[in-house]
Amino acid sequence: MSIRKRLILSNIAMILIPVISLFLIEIVIGYILFVAFQGNMDEVNVNSFMQIRFTAIGGVLILTNGLLTYYVSKSIIQPISKLSTAARRISTGDLEYSVKSDKKDELGELSNNFENMRLQLKEAEKAQEAYEKNRQELIAQISHDLKTPLTSIKGYVQGIQDGVANTPEKLEHYTETIYQTANDMNELIDELFLYSKLDLQQEKLQFEEVDLYAFFVDFIEEMSFFLEKKNGKANLSAEKAENYIVHADREKIRRVVLNIIQNSMKYMKEEPQKIQVSLENSENEVVVEIKDNGSGIDEADIPFIFNNFYRTDASRNSETGGSGLGLSIVKKIIQAHGGTVWAKSQLHKGSSIYFTLKKAV
Ligand code: ADP
Repeated sequence: MSIRKRLILSNIAMILIPVISLFLIEIVIGYILFVAFQGNMDEVNVNSFMQIRFTAIGGVLILTNGLLTYYVSKSIIQPISKLSTAARRISTGDLEYSVKSDKKDELGELSNNFENMRLQLKEAEKAQEAYEKNRQELIAQISHDLKTPLTSIKGYVQGIQDGVANTPEKLEHYTETIYQTANDMNELIDELFLYSKLDLQQEKLQFEEVDLYAFFVDFIEEMSFFLEKKNGKANLSAEKAENYIVHADREKIRRVVLNIIQNSMKYMKEEPQKIQVSLENSENEVVVEIKDNGSGIDEADIPFIFNNFYRTDASRNSETGGSGLGLSIVKKIIQAHGGTVWAKSQLHKGSSIYFTLKKAV
């Protein structure tokens, strides 16, 4: 019952109950006067009866007023004081005090809205904790990934300074290694920079209409030179007559495809190396599949390969392994396009990376 209705009813009750009680008292007194005393009462008795009458009426008035005021104020004050306690505890950072209410009045609604706010704050606090943990892990990982090549560069420079590289061949080997390592570091920093810009949503996307069919024909043509060197081949499978025009940032999609295909080439030991790109139309999206016949990914690793710095043991133990940022950049770019990305794989048979892009209307 709403508070307004409750107040109206209690006011009506405050009038009706004393009036009805007054009638009842009058009837009882009348009965006693006329039946018990048969109308013959002396002045003293009448005075006493009058006193009883007024005391009873006063009693009824006080009782009704007191009880109704107590009940109505309790139903209002109790939830307000609960809300006030909750607000105080929230202000000190304690989000555990629940004010959930099953009352159907305005205060019940206010309590439940307050409760929803408390639960949302709790969620936000949890997300903040996870974000902070992730940030600390990221800093630790970046420091580690930058320190390792720097230590190696320092070692080689020290070797040159100490005269260990005492032949022209050794010196060339040392300087070549320093150059390669510095190059790898540069690539890692570039990847980190792009990843953090995508993560902070500071990388602006230049959307345009991109015909994925033409895009992949060109891309495969470009890649064919590198693939042929490795006795590999890339194919495109799509219905030529269909429309695969999507709304996308061409350069960023190039980056996505490059990262996926570079992985396919990195983790393919078998020859001939085959990459199959397939396009499929769904209602308002184009689904792209990039399939390889490489080493495959262990089922247990698949849910994590799009996380930043995640590298499977196979990648960590091999020289081909990268930074572990390639697929997380892919995911960030596809998410910024409003699409989704996922993987299917069979160990020793190959992997498929799928992503979707919204069709241009
Ligand atoms: P990395 O820089 O290590 O390649 P990625 O983020 O690109 O990092 O990939 C994450 C991990 O997923 C890799 O370490 C690798 O183990 C696995 N992976 C990704 N693509 C493939 C693939 N085509 N075949 C086998 N393993 C893959």
